[in-house]
Amino acid sequence: MFSIDIKYIMEKIEAMNTILIRDLPSAILIGLLLLGVSCKENEGVNQAFTSTEYGKSFFSYARIEAKLDSLEKAPKTEELKPGAMCYSVCVNNNITNFVCLKCGKATKYDVWTYDLIQTTRSKLNGIKELDIKVIDNGFCEHCYPGTTPKTFKIYIKYSDKKDRIASSVNFHEAEVLVQFLKGNHVFTGEQGNESDMKQYLPLLKKILLGKEVK
Ligand SMILES: [Zn+2]
Repeated sequence: MFSIDIKYIMEKIEAMNTILIRDLPSAILIGLLLLGVSCKENEGVNQAFTSTEYGKSFFSYARIEAKLDSLEKAPKTEELKPGAMCYSVCVNNNITNFVCLKCGKATKYDVWTYDLIQTTRSKLNGIKELDIKVIDNGFCEHCYPGTTPKTFKIYIKYSDKKDRIASSVNFHEAEVLVQFLKGNHVFTGEQGNESDMKQYLPLLKKILLGKEVK
């Protein structure tokens, strides 16, 4: 079972938006590295996590606890931007197939939702601070007939914890997680509207410190 998922690899490259690929040899090298990541994605979640293979730069459980503690103790952010008040109505009836990586079957989504799934998955996979595994079959009507949860399952492995932390996150929760890990104490919404990250502490604790699984 060896397949090259070009689209997925391109998403990975997009997710690495801090890396500027200027020359071809680098692009090839990064492509090959991403191919390895892509193949790994299809392995079962029960297989061992690879924090030691990837390096030692991931945050430990203790460091995440400290970051959450620091947010909790930080002064409330007083000046928050309200953001733009104009909301454009998104009318796009084009339908496209979301192909589940777990079962390989397709579920139909409107293009807007499909793009949101892809973008959010890329952002989650692009989290460099955590040894994270993202499963997106929550959007698959074959894996979840009739009750598609429309959430990503994420598994986090910390170097100082034996087991993984498992949780489900929706689009908004994924965005909160990504912005918090960047060190932001202010959450910026889609319209540029800001809110105090402190209000998301219970959510962040649930995702980052939550239930451990084998
Ligand atoms: Zn599926």
